[in-house]
Amino acid sequence: MSEIPFKGEIRRDYLTGSDVIFTLSRDTRPRDFRNDESLYGNKTDCQFEYGKESFNTTIKTVGKPWKLRLMYNKYPIVNSGVESFLENGFLKKYSNYGKSYVVVDTPNHLMKFHEIDNADLYEWFKLLIEGEKMMYEDKKIKHVYVFKNSGSISGGSIYHQHTQIIGLPFILPVIKQDLLIIKENHNKCIIEDAIKIDKERILIEDKYALAFSPFGSRFKGMSIITVKRHINHITKLNDAEILSIINMLKEILKRNEKIFGAHSYNIMFHEMKSSPELHLYLEITPRFSNIGSMELSGVFMNSLRPEVYVKKFRDAV
Ligand SMILES: [Zn+2]
Ligand SMILES: [Zn+2]
Repeated sequence: MSEIPFKGEIRRDYLTGSDVIFTLSRDTRPRDFRNDESLYGNKTDCQFEYGKESFNTTIKTVGKPWKLRLMYNKYPIVNSGVESFLENGFLKKYSNYGKSYVVVDTPNHLMKFHEIDNADLYEWFKLLIEGEKMMYEDKKIKHVYVFKNSGSISGGSIYHQHTQIIGLPFILPVIKQDLLIIKENHNKCIIEDAIKIDKERILIEDKYALAFSPFGSRFKGMSIITVKRHINHITKLNDAEILSIINMLKEILKRNEKIFGAHSYNIMFHEMKSSPELHLYLEITPRFSNIGSMELSGVFMNSLRPEVYVKKFRDAV
């Protein structure tokens, strides 16, 4: 009897209560990085180049020739498939229903993200919003997660700058944690309180948005960008706010490179359509090492106090 092909699934880890995505064939995806930060990947092998469009199914392109490409991920974290939930008492598992999109941020293989034109990054942000809206049209998608892994230590596998939009059948634990923290803060917005408390740790501020390094930053040089209006997800942002976010994002990445040299980083969007109490923010986390047993146990170690980082940031103009 032949075995039924595995289509991927999500299992609940009974030890921690975490959902674990068992994926399909991600081990076979191309890898630029072999623990070498200076390795930029082979442009001729790169599937994000002009002329390689047939490798991934395109959803939409922007510009002619394209400057931005929204496409289906060839190596999806979650698959569009049949939704099902199986529960056998102790053991819970459900299908990895969902959608995995990739945005190719630039056609230029070696371009750093913060070197992309503001006008093109504005289009990039609009494309993320469009991708997110498309995903939320599917009512089975509970949470859309937008993130960037840049560099070998970030968890990224390809050098060429790209952003991921993942439509999940569950809400990310980090968002559940955000909601719990708000509850503990007597249902007051934690970000608005944080802005007051972290005044001395503000990196950049303008009329619409601000960036600061949080008091208890888990990582060296960590920062967050948020808007002054209470908004719970990116589809509600206006143009002025989008432009402010882009300016700040570029400035942070540029100055971080001045301070720390070339390094890996993650950008994570904290947002949730069905939770109006959440205040949207982007987290920018420079990555200098892999996480170890302490971090896997939920405790972080940081060798640079945010106050010192803020000073370095201001000096790095
Ligand atoms: Zn490339
Ligand atoms: Zn708020």
